[in-house]
Amino acid sequence: MATHGTGMTSARTHARMVERLRDEGIRDEVVLDAMLAVPRHRFVDEALAIRAYEDVPLPIGHGQTISQPWVVARMTELARNGRDLDGVLEIGTGCGYQTAVLSRIAKRVWTVERIGALVAKARRNLQALKCGNVALKHGDGSADLGEDLAVDAIVVTAGATHLPTALLRYLKPGGRMVIPLSDEGARGVQYLTVVDPTPNGFREQKLDAVRFVPLLPGLA
Ligand code: SAH
Repeated sequence: MATHGTGMTSARTHARMVERLRDEGIRDEVVLDAMLAVPRHRFVDEALAIRAYEDVPLPIGHGQTISQPWVVARMTELARNGRDLDGVLEIGTGCGYQTAVLSRIAKRVWTVERIGALVAKARRNLQALKCGNVALKHGDGSADLGEDLAVDAIVVTAGATHLPTALLRYLKPGGRMVIPLSDEGARGVQYLTVVDPTPNGFREQKLDAVRFVPLLPGLA
C-alpha cells in the first residue's frame, strides 16, 4: 500500500520538482531533461522515498547524504556549460544519484567514492537503472587517482578546503572543474566554484553558497 502510494505520487511530484528547478534558475534543458529522467526515489531508503522530490539533501547512511536536487542540477549545468560532454569525472559517488544524472548528459562517466559500502550501494542503484556508461572506483579523489584519464569536466561533490590540484591534469584543454570550496578552513562557508584552467594557471569563479559533507582523505 505504502509503496503503491509512493508510485502513484512520484511521477507528479518528480515533474513538479523539475518545474521548481526551472523557476529557481536552472536554464539548461538538457540538464532539466536529465533531472526528469532520473528517479531520485530509487536512490534513498524506502522510508524516505516519500521525501525524494523535496529540494533537500537526505541521509544515505555512513554519515553521508544524497545531494539536494537544485545543487545537482546547478553543478551539472555548470559542468556542461552548454557543451556536449564526452567524459566526466565525479568525485564523491555517494549513492550514485548525480552519477546517474551525469550518465545522461555525458558519453562516459568515471566516479570515485572513498567509502566501500557506498561504492557497493551506488553500483546496485546504477545497475538497476541500466546506467551502462559509468565506471565506479573505490578510491580517494582528494589526491591523484593514478589513472590515465582525459575528461571534459570534473565534478567534486564533497566540500573541499583547498583545490585538489592533482586532479586538474585529467582535464582536456577547455575542460572545467566544479567544486564546493570554502576559503576559511573547514568551518568556512562553501561556495560552488568553477575552475577553468588557462595557459598560465587557472581562473576561479565563486558562485552559489552551498553546504556539502567534507572531502576527506583516505579510504573507508
Ligand atoms: N554525488 C553524491 C553526493 C554524495 S555526498 C550525490 O549525488 O548525492 C559526498 C560523497 O563524497 C560521500 O559519499 C563521501 O563519502 C564522498 N567523499 C568524501 N571525500 C572523498 C574523497 N576524498 N574521495 C572520494 N569520495 C569522497
